[in-house]
Amino acid sequence: MTSDVISSKELKKIDPVFGQISYDDHEQIVFCNDKDTGLKAIIGIHNTVLGPALGGTRMWNYENEWEALNDVLRLSRGMTYKSAITGLNLGGGKAVIIGDAKTQKTPELMKKFGEFVHSLSGKYITAEDVGMTTGDMDMVREVTPYVTGISESKGGAGNPSPITAFGVFMGMKAAAKFKFGSDVLEDKTVFVQGIGHVGEALVEHLVCEGANVIISDLSQDRLEAVRSKYNVTIYGGQDLYSEEMDIYAPCALGATINDETISKLKAKVIAGAANNQLAEENKHSRLLQEKGIIYAPDFLINAGGIINVYAELENYDKQEIMRKTENIYNTTEEILIRAKANNVTTNVAALNIAKERIETRKQELAK
Ligand code: NAD
Repeated sequence: MTSDVISSKELKKIDPVFGQISYDDHEQIVFCNDKDTGLKAIIGIHNTVLGPALGGTRMWNYENEWEALNDVLRLSRGMTYKSAITGLNLGGGKAVIIGDAKTQKTPELMKKFGEFVHSLSGKYITAEDVGMTTGDMDMVREVTPYVTGISESKGGAGNPSPITAFGVFMGMKAAAKFKFGSDVLEDKTVFVQGIGHVGEALVEHLVCEGANVIISDLSQDRLEAVRSKYNVTIYGGQDLYSEEMDIYAPCALGATINDETISKLKAKVIAGAANNQLAEENKHSRLLQEKGIIYAPDFLINAGGIINVYAELENYDKQEIMRKTENIYNTTEEILIRAKANNVTTNVAALNIAKERIETRKQELAK
């Protein structure tokens, strides 16, 4: 036996794919490798009961393949429930390309990735995510029709971020109504953490409504730009989680809601754009519930982006995009009421509605 042969006992211990917690019954996982372009990608197809699995491609310099696999599994699962709860006839999928988007992304690599997407015959439809641009999707479009998020000039639906921000704003208003008895955000103190594409557009909505907006970002340039444009306050402290506020809007990275931050949080409502805000879904949504903090589930209120790209497949116009996105208000309200009535967390209430929709469709298909 050579040294790199792993014994079956060792392999059992590793359970590299099906044994992962994040595996969660994925239908298919495709590992893509191309020596010539250096492409190493993983496509995760979580569920296609409601339709083709649509979800963006992320290019990231993962520490190792485990991290990449775990990321794609978590993200594609999230897409299933995001589309289901939003009422879209889409399944959940996502892809990751392992590598540095700044230095390792080439047109050849993107096209090769597109060929892998094409080989799935439409079961998975890609779009842009972190590390990707509309231009990259245009490149993929050269080799496959199974791509969204392409340039408006090529028939795409354009930048999703303002739509995502509008959906977050709608979800935030519904959560505010539930907590404070009114959805008017005038004079409410809202911390927006991360004022990138979505965060800035959210700031604009909040300022129009008369909210007291406080912004934080790692980029001093962004902070200055947004402050001078909207006359909002830059957070000057060290630990925003322990500040008095009405609403915390995470619009930067995931997992900011965790053991440490929950113990300090004084916000009464959490509603933001970031994906996977809860470090551990069950545990942290329960801790928020126990503290009486209303959490508007991220995968529900940040669905504006997927609504926007879905328009490319269904050929509906901007008006319909906005109508569907505005409806996030109603869905959020429904979920918060359900969660209270059934004494479950808002995250569980949202997941249950999404799962019910998938199960109903599954039974219809079986007839
Ligand atoms: P972006 O990269 O344009 O902006 C993110 C901003 O957060 C940047 O300005 C960055 O400097 C800042 N940031 C990073 N770490 C921070 C930290 N620790 N504290 C404060 N600021 C920090 O991204 P975006 O497109 O605005 O997306 C924001 C979030 O929303 C992401 O989590 C993304 O996955 C999610 N999301 C975006 C869309 C969309 O349509 N763009 C759709 C759904 C979900």
